[in-house]
Amino acid sequence: MSAPQRLPVIFFGHGNPMNALADNVYTQGWRQICESFPKPRAVLCVSAHWYVPYTAVTAMQSPRTIHDFGGFPRELFEFQYPAPGSPEIAAEVGELLGSAVTLDESWGLDHGAWSVLCHCYPDADVPVVQLSIDETLTAQDHYRLGRSLAPLREQGILIVGSGNLVHNLHTYGWGRRVMEPYDWAVRFEQQAREWMLAGDHDPLINYEQLGKDAALSAPTPDHYLPLLYVLGAQLPGDQVTFPIEGVDGGSISMLTVQLG
Ligand code: ZN
Repeated sequence: MSAPQRLPVIFFGHGNPMNALADNVYTQGWRQICESFPKPRAVLCVSAHWYVPYTAVTAMQSPRTIHDFGGFPRELFEFQYPAPGSPEIAAEVGELLGSAVTLDESWGLDHGAWSVLCHCYPDADVPVVQLSIDETLTAQDHYRLGRSLAPLREQGILIVGSGNLVHNLHTYGWGRRVMEPYDWAVRFEQQAREWMLAGDHDPLINYEQLGKDAALSAPTPDHYLPLLYVLGAQLPGDQVTFPIEGVDGGSISMLTVQLG
């Protein structure tokens, strides 16, 4: 058997959970991206919505679909994404990251994972393992963890970060149909793209020192940090592309970042 080809590593801007049920430019884009390379052996997903004081990896055979939100229609609460888990791959991830990682039996798939993956792999036939974001670690630590995961890309595992580069719910235009992106959101996203294209990750790791635009764009770390795992898993020769772009409600960037 020949070695599987290297898979890309992707940061998805997931946005509104209702995207799980939607057919729009974002969800069509997610499907097309995942159709553009061979089906992985498994997906390892770092989701903004598993932000806890420890590093854990889901290790159950059948992760449940977690409806971790309120105020959405019943059909979203009834939605199920029955992708299998993979205790074997969880153990591989645990080994790569070292002894501080717990094998978790209680989480499952949160909407950061399933609202995107249900479009990527609608038959739920690719095992999914989630990695938590340890809130006690520094941004640099998260980037390093991403780097430790990079070898999985050569082993048929698709590493996915799910968050939003710009994610400010205080300024979000709830219920407004058309809403121009805020200047600070546009500036921060543009600057971040330039750094990514140049392979200059240091300012993105030190985003808390970047000033007002960054502070408004990432007022809490949870939706931003999955990007650092993705950047950390970059390998030499990876092309940097942004196959999906857009800003929802003025202050949620739907940007997808694909490396490789
Ligand atoms: Zn989210």
